[in-house]
Parts: sequence; structure tokens; C-alpha cells
Amino acid sequence: MLHLLFVLTITIAILQMSVFFTTMYLHRSLTHRGVEFHPWLAFLMHLQIMLFTGISPREWVAVHRKHHHFSDREGDPHSPYLFGMWKVLLGNVLYYRRETKNPGTIQKYTPDYRVVILDRIPKLNFGALGGLAVFMLIFGVLWGAAAWVFHAVAYILLNSTINSVCHMVGYRNYDNRATNLKWVAWLTGGEGLHNNHHAYPASARFAQKSFEVDPAWPVIRMLEALKLASIKKESLATN
Ligand SMILES: [Zn+2]
Ligand SMILES: [Zn+2]
Repeated sequence: MLHLLFVLTITIAILQMSVFFTTMYLHRSLTHRGVEFHPWLAFLMHLQIMLFTGISPREWVAVHRKHHHFSDREGDPHSPYLFGMWKVLLGNVLYYRRETKNPGTIQKYTPDYRVVILDRIPKLNFGALGGLAVFMLIFGVLWGAAAWVFHAVAYILLNSTINSVCHMVGYRNYDNRATNLKWVAWLTGGEGLHNNHHAYPASARFAQKSFEVDPAWPVIRMLEALKLASIKKESLATN
């Protein structure tokens, strides 16, 4: 029982690390350029994402920029209005993968992408097996495999919730089809404030109202105080 608690605590901590690096590095920094991180910190976040999620940052940036470009219209890679909420919630990975195979997407949407050394080692993100190795080193083979599966399922579901539920269910501050869900924001480092994000995509800060909490924002502010981050855009609505 105590061991299960230990495995669960560490795994959830690593999951939250993946979630925070996704929103801070992949999303707010690489995709929308709202914040820039110190190269060493960027390197560590890039490495962690490749190992534990199997994501290629350049592909993620391209697919997500295309999502903003079409945003629930024909051409959006994973709109619940085009494909259905449940299909995107449960099959987001497939829609994502299909778009990464679209040869034009990467070229068209990431001409500004600065290739780093980690991008040249594609084996690092092969099926997130690096993460499996790390989990097994910490917990042993069986518990490590269980932790890896838990991490993979939870990470995929949290991301697909943003792309499906957070375009249909929740409240809207602004006139776009995305929605805000406060409880999702708590679990996803602020990503659940998705209606705000579609209104101000380049803003490094996602919360707009006093009752909204964007957990990644104080972390970004702290990193800025430590000279590890530089905030490029912070949009605060006046209405
Ligand atoms: Zn969206
Ligand atoms: Zn975005």
C-alpha cells in the first residue's frame, strides 16, 4: 500500500512536469512565442517531453498552429465540430498523427522553427520508450511499466480534453468556439482556459478574470525573476 502511494506520487509529479512543460515550452513558447526560456531550461524541457511523451516539438507546433489557423472550420486537424466531441476526446492521438504525416503541414507552419541538437536524435522520442526506461529504473520493471501506462493514458486524455471538451463545454469570456473549464485548467497547467487562449493566443498568461487560475503563470513569473524566462506578451483584457 505504501509502495503504491510512493509510485503514484512520483508518477503524478512526473505527469505534472510533462503537462507544465507542454503548456510552457511547446505551447506558450515554441508555438505562440509569448515567452522565451533560457537555452538550458529549454533544452531540459525539450528532452523531458521527448523522453516521456514521444512528441516531436516541431510537429506539435505545426499541428497546433494549423488548429489556430482554421479553428473549428474545415482544415482544423482535430475540431470536435468537424469530427465529434467523443471521437476527438478518445481519438485525438490519431487525428494528431494523421496531421503530422501531412507533408505540407510541417513546412508551412514552422518555417521559423530553430532546429536544436535534440531534434537530430529522433530515437529519443520513439514511442516515449525513454520514459519507460526511466520509470523502470525508479520503480523496477513491473511497477515501472504500470507507471508508464498511467502517465501515457493520463497525458493523452488531458491533452485531448483541451481539443474536444474545451471547444464545446464550459463558459466563454470571448466570441470564439473554445471554452473555459476551471477544473481542467487546474489539471493542465492552465490549458483549460482555452476560450481565453483562442482570444489572445500570443499571451503567455491564460487567466483573464480574477476568479480564473492559470497554474503555469506564477511559474513563468518566477522563472522570469530568476532570469530563466523572458515574457514577450501578456495580454490582459480590459472588459
Ligand atoms: Zn483550441
Ligand atoms: Zn494555442
